[in-house]
Amino acid sequence: MSQDKKLGLTAKILIGMGSGIGLGLLLRNLFPGSELIEQYLTMGVFHVIGSIFISCLKMLMVPLVFVSLVCGTSSLADPSKLGRLGGKTISFYLFTTAIAISLAMGFTLLIQPGDPTMATQGLTYVAKEAPSLAQVIINIFPTNPVLAFTEGNMLQIIVFSVIFGFAISHIGEKGERIRTLFNDLNEVVMKVVSLIMAMAPYGVFALMAKLALGLGTDTFASVFKYFLVVAGVLIIHGWVVYPALLKGFTGLSPVIFLRKMRDVQLFAFSTASSNATLPVTMRNAEHRLGVDNKIASFTLPLGATVNMDGTAIMQGVATVFIAQVWGIDLSMMDFLMVILTATLASIGTAGVPGVGMIMLAMVLEQVGLPVEGIALIIGVDRLLDMLRTAVNISGDTVASVIVAKSEGELSLAAYHDPEAGQKITD
Ligand code: ASP
Repeated sequence: MSQDKKLGLTAKILIGMGSGIGLGLLLRNLFPGSELIEQYLTMGVFHVIGSIFISCLKMLMVPLVFVSLVCGTSSLADPSKLGRLGGKTISFYLFTTAIAISLAMGFTLLIQPGDPTMATQGLTYVAKEAPSLAQVIINIFPTNPVLAFTEGNMLQIIVFSVIFGFAISHIGEKGERIRTLFNDLNEVVMKVVSLIMAMAPYGVFALMAKLALGLGTDTFASVFKYFLVVAGVLIIHGWVVYPALLKGFTGLSPVIFLRKMRDVQLFAFSTASSNATLPVTMRNAEHRLGVDNKIASFTLPLGATVNMDGTAIMQGVATVFIAQVWGIDLSMMDFLMVILTATLASIGTAGVPGVGMIMLAMVLEQVGLPVEGIALIIGVDRLLDMLRTAVNISGDTVASVIVAKSEGELSLAAYHDPEAGQKITD
């Protein structure tokens, strides 16, 4: 048996991660502020390998969502089923996001990480303009699908693919032929995902080494409590709330779920992007957890775009934290406003690194809190971004499994089989 077979992908990614961080920290301490390291490693080798890895994942996003969603919807001949699926998925997403923000604000009020004596003078942060709600809704519908594909506009691609797949299912025999073609294309795309997954340990190594070399440690001290509260609530939401919801709604074992989620969470953690992780999330849900393509192809791309519980948690904690630092008391109305705007902001957050922080400006502005507060916490955001992305994609997958089970579209045999979809070259 080759070494390759003995060591699972999770173990390899973890080794890549650990050695990347280790090497980064070592070099940083051995050669502090070295120009050569910065030029040839941080922004050289590590940057190149890490970026290639992320690009390879991203390159699959558009073809994967299109092909997979066309496969899924073209097999859903009954329009009412599509409506029911959409209703269930969106309600579940909103429900978990509301739990996430409530937990976040509850814990922040309880722990009070915001110290009013903290220095806030001289802080500046220029907020980018957030789009209006009306525009957000109009923008879901593409005027030009090719443009949507080129720009990678996920919601527009979803809308176009659903309509396209729906039409295929309604043209009889001709539709059958096209559907077979799309099913074959789907196999090809999944195969490419598997190949890229095999590259993950090296990609993750480079990403972590670059991170460790560039991360500032001094920013941590002042906002350490904030960091701990966000990280704590993220862990509770991802590793307690989701498993409990899974057990409650489906009766399935959460332990199996968590075990099978590990690889995807590591991908999300290292890329800090739900979108870049999407190919792996989809492959995992279908091959490892047994979610039928009809459900996975719809719930997961939608989730990667609109369902960001981890982001909502950061926004909930950050808002209350900033209010505490500035000594501003939030009224009941303000809290409701935070829940509403943080839900909308997390929906509007694109699944790419750091966008949650930009959308936080919108939440702060809505409740009249100083946007400069962002400057206080932005230094520790990179690590939190990684953790919340892992939570974001776990929330999408848990919804996918619950919806699939309720529709009778979950393969229990695959869910319970520890080996299902295990070999990445399968
Ligand atoms: N990085 C997050 C994601 O892709 C979004 C964010 O909170 O910035 O899921």
